[in-house]
Amino acid sequence: MLDFCFNFPANRPPRLMFIGAHCDDIEIGCGGTVIELLNRYPDATVHWVVLSSEGERKQEARSAANAMLRGVRDRTVTIKEFRGAYFPSEAPAIKDCFEELKQMASPDIIFAHNRKDSHQDHRIVGELAWNTFRDHVILEYEIPKYDGDLGAPSVFMPVSAAAMKRKIALLMRVFKTQHNKRWFTPETFQGLMRLRGIECNAPSGYAEAFYSRKLLLGGAT
Ligand SMILES: [Zn+2]
Repeated sequence: MLDFCFNFPANRPPRLMFIGAHCDDIEIGCGGTVIELLNRYPDATVHWVVLSSEGERKQEARSAANAMLRGVRDRTVTIKEFRGAYFPSEAPAIKDCFEELKQMASPDIIFAHNRKDSHQDHRIVGELAWNTFRDHVILEYEIPKYDGDLGAPSVFMPVSAAAMKRKIALLMRVFKTQHNKRWFTPETFQGLMRLRGIECNAPSGYAEAFYSRKLLLGGAT
């Protein structure tokens, strides 16, 4: 399969933005991709945004961001306190937050939730990412869940076995408040990455996958 490589501007480090509705979404949806990209682009500028957090989960979100972004010098971690499960009723305030994010950074790639995600909080984040960032690459990650909304994403990031293991180890080590959820297990995370690895013929056997609404082919003329 032909690789479409990142064509970041040559005169500055890549700018990456990761947005998650809840404390562990970024790590679940694209933790392996974060690790792979930062291995390739250790000088990247990273903006990490978690929109809801409360109590213990706030500390988990901060610990996870610190672990994922280990060694990244130019990073901004934003952790908000919008109420989880209530995003639709808080949409205007969350939109204001997105407008603030737009003033803070113009990312080369934004990783956000899928606009067709069955979780209402995730869906709003996906919609606001598109609503706010109008000339950007947005890749929409997936989150396994009870509702069963997995589909057939078309953009794949192969993930090495080492990155896959680091992602899962971090999820299990940091997010202890989630251990009482039956789905929150290493098998869930590894299984989905294995399936996506099959779909893109990843050398390691593992990958993460994304939905893309728009991608630009070739340089501007
Ligand atoms: Zn979530």
